Amino acid sequence: MIALQGIEKRYGDTTALHEVDLTIQDGEFLAILGPSGCGKTTLLRLLAGFMNPTVGTIQFGEKEVANPRKSSKPEKRNIGMVFQSFALWPHMNVEEHVRFALKNHRFSNKSTANEQESRVTEVLQLVGMEAFRKRYPAALSGGQQQRVALARAIAPEPDILLMDEPLSALDAELRISMRKEIKQIHRKLGATIIYVTHDQAEALAMADRVLVMQQGRIEQADKPEVIYQRP
Ligand code: ADP
Ligand code: ADP
Repeated sequence: MIALQGIEKRYGDTTALHEVDLTIQDGEFLAILGPSGCGKTTLLRLLAGFMNPTVGTIQFGEKEVANPRKSSKPEKRNIGMVFQSFALWPHMNVEEHVRFALKNHRFSNKSTANEQESRVTEVLQLVGMEAFRKRYPAALSGGQQQRVALARAIAPEPDILLMDEPLSALDAELRISMRKEIKQIHRKLGATIIYVTHDQAEALAMADRVLVMQQGRIEQADKPEVIYQRP
């Protein structure tokens, strides 16, 4: 379980988040929905541990990972991230991306080289990229590149997977089919996913719960069917 309590985040004069209280259950698929500037990325960056809140605490399970009253630095946490821009490395092929992610992670400390290689294969199969393992990013379509980014993020078995507008750079048809794929992957992994989007249809189609944000506040947090019936 992840718990955010009394979170406020200011950047100079701008208050990006006000009074955010939020609990996220293990295995939940939570979508954060709202217009540009409402604070979605700020919330994701706080969860990732890239910065501390100005006020408030963040807890991962029993562990307090952020508390600006006790420490100016957020604690490291075990997360995976997927970005809108894919952010692949041009000089690495598909399997090298996944291998690199495993090597630079605690997964490598508790597993043998053989186990790591089978994890590479397992994860590439999961995202449907096994047949492309020797390809470089330049020779992959947008959807395929995003599958590689997803494989890289999930390979080290993160506690949570943070996804920041992961489908926004893809064309409309592919976005719809990738929604289903990501849902299937979520079901297979049982991982906690926090998924930022400004696309209402996407949030409603994918998430267990949708957080609607407006000007730095959580306006509503409910199951998709409840959000959908809003006047
Ligand atoms: P969203 O992801 O929903 O578009 P953000 O979290 O990026 O929203 O931004 C929330 C608010 O905080 C906006 O008003 C934005 O201009 C401001 N903001 C975000 N990052 C910074 C920063 N590094 N410095 C100053 N203001 C920022
Ligand atoms: P998608 O069906 O995901 O939209 P594309 O239509 O872009 O993919 O590409 C179709 C096929 O062509 C894919 O299998 C992809 O791997 C391959 N492909 C795309 N771009 C290149 C490239 N620059 N070099 C080699 N193969 C490519």
